[in-house]
Amino acid sequence: MASEIRPNNNLNSSEKEYENTIRPQSIEDFSGQPQLIENLRIFIKAANQRNEPLDHVLFHGPPGLGKTTLSRIVANELGVNIKETSGPVLEKPGDLAGLLTNLEARDVLFIDEIHRLNVVVEEYLYAAMEDYKIDILIDSGPNARSIQIDLNPFTLVGATTRSGLLTSPLLSRFGIKSRLDYYPAEVLTRIVTRSAALLKVKITSEAAAGIARRSRGTPRIANGLLRRMRDFAQVLGNGTIDLAITDHGLRALNVDENGLDEMDNRILTTLIEKFKGGPVGISNIATAVGEESGTIEEVYEPFLIQEGYIIRTPRGREATTRAYEHLGKSNADKGDQQQLF
Ligand code: ADP
Repeated sequence: MASEIRPNNNLNSSEKEYENTIRPQSIEDFSGQPQLIENLRIFIKAANQRNEPLDHVLFHGPPGLGKTTLSRIVANELGVNIKETSGPVLEKPGDLAGLLTNLEARDVLFIDEIHRLNVVVEEYLYAAMEDYKIDILIDSGPNARSIQIDLNPFTLVGATTRSGLLTSPLLSRFGIKSRLDYYPAEVLTRIVTRSAALLKVKITSEAAAGIARRSRGTPRIANGLLRRMRDFAQVLGNGTIDLAITDHGLRALNVDENGLDEMDNRILTTLIEKFKGGPVGISNIATAVGEESGTIEEVYEPFLIQEGYIIRTPRGREATTRAYEHLGKSNADKGDQQQLF
């Protein structure tokens, strides 16, 4: 069940429509990430005053934290069009050329999952980013030749959950690199309250806070849970999402009381049961849970560290007392062991 509310980019069309209804359109509607927003406001204002394109921007951070939302906001605030694509969709330079040559001056090209661009397309992008020029191949056979064409100056906005996979030539071409962090519960409460108002569903402040606390610091999860709680309130209650509805609904969906998802719990259980709480290297954990170590490091672990379930030590990852308590296990054995050394 928990997988239902896991952040992911493979949303079905009704979920996409739901997301678009509640997605903030302007910088004022975007909650949280204060430092990032403050900087972005300045860079956008400066580019607008000079009537220049904004420098290329990279948003990186775990899924569901607002990278796509911010990219659209950037285009809105620049007063330009946005064309959206994603790394795996761009199979050959020609796919990219088609998009680039259709951009008007200062437009935004958004490439989601930019770490999944293939090498040839990525290299083709370099000249476009740096000099606003590309080579295109015309004719075929013996007449084939390439000509260079000028592009309108544009802004590339890239988004990635795995910045560690970006090559340094690509990274260095982004003038603005911003990391999105998990949201504190107060900010998520505001986001849930705002989404409920847009959906015209009543929600009490305690219920909004309850959803926020159990959303893994992630707006997409908070909004997903809100959507489910709306169903519970409509069918089992009087339409208002209150504490009784969220208590029932979140339990019925098996949502972890601290908002951890299936993989988080698997990592903690593995760490404690297979590796006696650590310290253990990331690659051993990765093999045991069947996930890439980079994904664990960039997508799962930051939340577990931030919330104090895991600590990083020079010898590897260790489970904290909080992790033992969360899984209802005692760390007495571990304590004994540590005393032996
Ligand atoms: P990402 O691209 O990082 O995976 P999205 O931009 O698609 O995430 O955001 C996922 C959902 O969360 C969207 O529906 C959006 O409305 C909501 N959301 C994300 N960040 C915020 C925010 N700061 N304030 C309000 N809603 C947000």
